Amino acid sequence: MTQHFIVIGNPIAHSKSPKIHTLFAAQTGMDISYQRQYCPNDADSFTAVVEAFFYGGGVGANVTVPFKQIAYAFCAARGGLSAHAKIAGAVNTLLLNKALLDKGVPLAEAIYGDNTDGQGLVNHIKSLNWPLTCARVAIIGAGGAVRGIILPLIESGIATVTIANRTVSKAVELVEELSTASTVIDEQQIKTCSTAELEGSFDIIINATSIGLSDDKLPLSHDLNCQYAYDLMYGRPLPFLQHFEARGAQTSDGYGMLIGQAALSFERWTGHRIDVTKATEDLNKS
Ligand code: NDP
Repeated sequence: MTQHFIVIGNPIAHSKSPKIHTLFAAQTGMDISYQRQYCPNDADSFTAVVEAFFYGGGVGANVTVPFKQIAYAFCAARGGLSAHAKIAGAVNTLLLNKALLDKGVPLAEAIYGDNTDGQGLVNHIKSLNWPLTCARVAIIGAGGAVRGIILPLIESGIATVTIANRTVSKAVELVEELSTASTVIDEQQIKTCSTAELEGSFDIIINATSIGLSDDKLPLSHDLNCQYAYDLMYGRPLPFLQHFEARGAQTSDGYGMLIGQAALSFERWTGHRIDVTKATEDLNKS
């Protein structure tokens, strides 16, 4: 029997998720339908779309811009949140909490939220054989994406992390908030500074700003170096990666993270593990 999945967003026409999940289904021999689901940008519409989907027999849903925080509040009041979703303050994966359903909780109250974005990034970096254990990492940005990646990075055993942001106060507040919310995140392990002040040599520098959407350039110090540069953005030439490529670093854009987070959502829903390296090769060929 066909199992049904959706990705909810606004806009949504550009989403690559149906293509990625259809490939995962082919890899695992599953019969699935995965559709893009447009939703008006308000919490009531999101609730109506999600409830209609799960009452209609849907198995799982992805959530993308601008609904990740709305999905967080929705799940917090219903079927609960994973540890990664709690720290991220955002949900990208919806599924039914079977333990609650078994207790007789109504389906609408059993919708559970996870966040696979950060672990998707970590899995992508590891799949390229970049060791994260003991790595000195710098992250540029202090928005929603950084909330999602910081716990999985720390859990993977990195040594230190510096968070640099255009607005330094937002980086400071983020570190205070995250270290209060999680016993794994130690404030002492995280430095903060402005983007222009970020200097020195790092194993990995991650651009987690949304600057790639504009023509602006990050004010990167001449004394800033890394072995590996990662930009969470993908799908266009990225000046951040070009800058470090010219200095001899290896680079990746965020397409691998997109596939990595999708693979983890697929695994949560179906129990099937995805060979992400093979899936990435197949997607690049298609
Ligand atoms: P937010 O809007 O929450 O945060 C934006 C961040 O970018 C802030 O730190 C902001 O700094 C900084 N910024 C924006 N414009 C500039 C600029 N002109 N100069 C310097 N800094 C700037 O965005 P998100 O955290 O949600 O997303 C960040 C990026 O991550 C996006 O490009 C998104 O597409 C990507 N992403 C990729 C994923 C993937 O699967 N590959 C998954 C999730 C996100 P300030 O605080 O000073 O305003």
